[in-house]
Amino acid sequence: LVELTHVEKHFGHLHVLKDINLTVNKGEVLVVVGPSGSGKSTMCRTINRLETIDSGDIRIDGNPLPQEGKELAALRAEVGMVFQSFNLFANKTILENVTLAPIKVRHMPKDEAENLAMDLLARVGVDSQAEKMPAQLSGGQQQRVAIARALAMKPKVMLFDEPTSALDPEMVNEVLDVMTELAHEGMTMICVTHEMGFARNVADRVVFMADGKILESGTPDEFFEHPKTDRAKDFLSKIL
Ligand code: ATP
Ligand code: MG
Repeated sequence: LVELTHVEKHFGHLHVLKDINLTVNKGEVLVVVGPSGSGKSTMCRTINRLETIDSGDIRIDGNPLPQEGKELAALRAEVGMVFQSFNLFANKTILENVTLAPIKVRHMPKDEAENLAMDLLARVGVDSQAEKMPAQLSGGQQQRVAIARALAMKPKVMLFDEPTSALDPEMVNEVLDVMTELAHEGMTMICVTHEMGFARNVADRVVFMADGKILESGTPDEFFEHPKTDRAKDFLSKIL
């Protein structure tokens, strides 16, 4: 479903993605781990074209990423993204945050969009907050709204970039629970996270990045119990 082939990316003189080759199948849950600055976020951002690439190829469902205009907006809808910071529209209610894109991009009638939004907000457990403003919600609640907002576009794949690392510890699990449920429902997911419990229990595959390269790719068991590279062993010894 998502295919990266020989992807290269520089920021000025900094070579941040080095020959990235990655295929994520439909329904697969991929967890990306690695030290800070290894290129995890940049790789995610290239998949919905928040970052351009210098060379190589990225395909979603066999189609190359569109460059601009309507096609790019459609791509962003197909590839849902949830960031570390919640990125909700501060001046809109929770309900409006979720209905905005379906109405604007999908031209969904308002009442239909609201029904869909309420269903999704219920699914992530924040439907009672629909009329509130984002600032009135806890971080964990806001992050669950961000997930509902992405799901409202019926994405083919969801990208999560450290969705729990800005949260107070007691709120981490409520977000991980929603992600776990999504995974079990068959959503294709690419998750950058430091939550190793989630990686072990939910990932189909773990990818380890360091210095802009994918150094390891395997099942959680292979990665956690039998890391092949010294970089991965060193990384694991620091976090486990
Ligand atoms: P972290 O775990 O800290 O989130 P990461 O693995 O997500 O790290 P990236 O954010 O992808 O790493 O960054 C990879 C490298 O690219 C880093 O050296 C970073 O400083 C650099 N970088 C990221 N974004 C930009 C940018 N917009 N302009 C210049 N350099 C950037
Ligand atoms: Mg990052």
